[in-house]
Amino acid sequence: MVFMIDSHVHSVFRSLEDFETLGFAGLTDAVSVAFYPVVPSSPATLIDHFRHIIEAEPLRLSGSFVRVHPAIGIHPRCIPPDVQSVFEYMKKAVEGCVAVGEVGLELATNAELEVLRNQLKLSKEEDLPAIIHTPRKEKRAITAKIIDVLREIDYFNVVIDHVNFENIDLVADLDVYVGLTVQCGKLNPENLLEIVGKYVMSSPEKFLLNTDLGRDSSDLFSLPKAVQFLRVKNIDRRVIELISGRNASSLFRI
Ligand SMILES: [Zn+2]
Repeated sequence: MVFMIDSHVHSVFRSLEDFETLGFAGLTDAVSVAFYPVVPSSPATLIDHFRHIIEAEPLRLSGSFVRVHPAIGIHPRCIPPDVQSVFEYMKKAVEGCVAVGEVGLELATNAELEVLRNQLKLSKEEDLPAIIHTPRKEKRAITAKIIDVLREIDYFNVVIDHVNFENIDLVADLDVYVGLTVQCGKLNPENLLEIVGKYVMSSPEKFLLNTDLGRDSSDLFSLPKAVQFLRVKNIDRRVIELISGRNASSLFRI
């Protein structure tokens, strides 16, 4: 069996039974990233959300056959007032995490850009990867802005996530990891196969698969299905192992 790591889930929205089922489907590890579904009215809301991910989730899910690894970060859609207090908490708490995330840009406002810069500086100081969201709308233009910020901070140990045909050429030659989200409304198995043929085969060490499982209606099995789909399409076993687990294992040191 190929060992599988999901590099981007929002475990707080999913049941223990979901992870138990995924464990039976071959998932060994998942990175649980932060996202709060309303704009927090106070920094404490987000700090408690981070505490939930770090202090409660790995323990809650430890009986599920899947090891869940925490990541904390301020998503561009949930920037609270007095964001500085959240940065102060993150500086202390991030050492217990495998990544800073999910961070990124949604509309690329000045406030979002400043929050992203600060979090990339923190990732760089702590030598932790950052998991960077690219939005559904204006994906290409906003990915270009994210790349400008990476150049400005001079930090590239990141996953640029939810990449699809709109923006993949922008990141294909950049020294970053590329997250491919196999999920309804994002990449389906056929889209993935096309990306694998065009981009992944030539540099399989930079791609990671994930599901973004969370509060939205999702296919729980989209990752194992994608892996099996690539297998029956005769994609090289070594390539499948890299993108479905080994790359995430080396990047997140898990
Ligand atoms: Zn996400």
